[in-house]
Amino acid sequence: MRIDILTVVPELLDSPLSHSIVGRAIKKGLVEIQVHNIRKYGLGPHRQVDDYCYGGDAGMVMMVEPVFKMIEKLKSERNYDEIIYMSPDGELLSQGIANELSLKENIILLCGHYKGIDHRIREHLVTREISIGDYVLSGGEIPAAVVADSIVRLIPGALTDETSALSDSFQDDLLSPPVYTRPAEYNGWKVPDVLLSGNPKLIREWQEEQALERTKELRPNLLSKNF
Ligand code: SAH
Repeated sequence: MRIDILTVVPELLDSPLSHSIVGRAIKKGLVEIQVHNIRKYGLGPHRQVDDYCYGGDAGMVMMVEPVFKMIEKLKSERNYDEIIYMSPDGELLSQGIANELSLKENIILLCGHYKGIDHRIREHLVTREISIGDYVLSGGEIPAAVVADSIVRLIPGALTDETSALSDSFQDDLLSPPVYTRPAEYNGWKVPDVLLSGNPKLIREWQEEQALERTKELRPNLLSKNF
């Protein structure tokens, strides 16, 4: 899989994509993530990428031309399954969307900045818009890193034990059961006996029961999705 991220602040994406599970997946060759500076196609000697907003509102808007040229260049090199604009008014990111995107071959994540991008890009080039929540951030870079991380960990081989992605919260509309590690007792705080029993059937039953209980208590809306 290949993910191209288009931004005017590429530095913001350096660190989140080079470590941990995403960094390892890149090293293993499971995914290629390319970050492109839209400024490369900026206009004039100052490589301008934004301009004043028509209608006189305060704030700058990312111009059509640099984004258009950058996307056209990439499209001339390969086919893209989706050109996704990160936007607070897009579809809310979910595990379902991450699962769906993890099956794609090539996707573009377009990051807005300032007041957003010229709407013509959204009308004519973008195929999908994704939000990471009902709040406004300064740019689409952190949302793009969130989307990329949620996708990459689902690519087979990205996690050392593949089953651990399957037991993550939301994967089956249930929250994850509690997890513990050694020591079995600390400060008098004990790990539940069943996890020390060595009986896989009992352990699985306990985990399923806990997942259901936690979902009922914390996110009952997830359960009603099934009815
Ligand atoms: N004026 C716009 C917000 C611009 S914020 C509005 O009110 O809708 C600047 C950029 O940050 C956006 O273009 C978008 O790419 C990104 N962004 C901000 N919040 C986001 C969110 N919750 N999800 C995804 N992208 C977001």
